[in-house]
Amino acid sequence: MVPPAAKLEDSQTIFRPGETVRIKGIYRVLHYAHRLPHETAVLVLKRFPNCNQCGDAVRYQLVRSVGELLKDYNFRKDVDAERSSDDDVLTE
Ligand SMILES: [Zn+2]
Repeated sequence: MVPPAAKLEDSQTIFRPGETVRIKGIYRVLHYAHRLPHETAVLVLKRFPNCNQCGDAVRYQLVRSVGELLKDYNFRKDVDAERSSDDDVLTE
């Protein structure tokens, strides 16, 4: 069984220059006619930029999102939920 939404999902992850970057991650950069697609990390940009050669014809396709290490639950300093569960078990 192949989910029929696969194509649709693809088109929802393609962004144009000037659009707000909502998802930090690895993007495939699709140029218009002058360069093969290549992948790049978009981590600090607020908006997708124009290409110097193909201008606003460039497209950005999300390959996968990336999380920030210090926001991962194993690396956050403000969470110690794993220690609190079995402190009140009494053993004789
Ligand atoms: Zn280009």
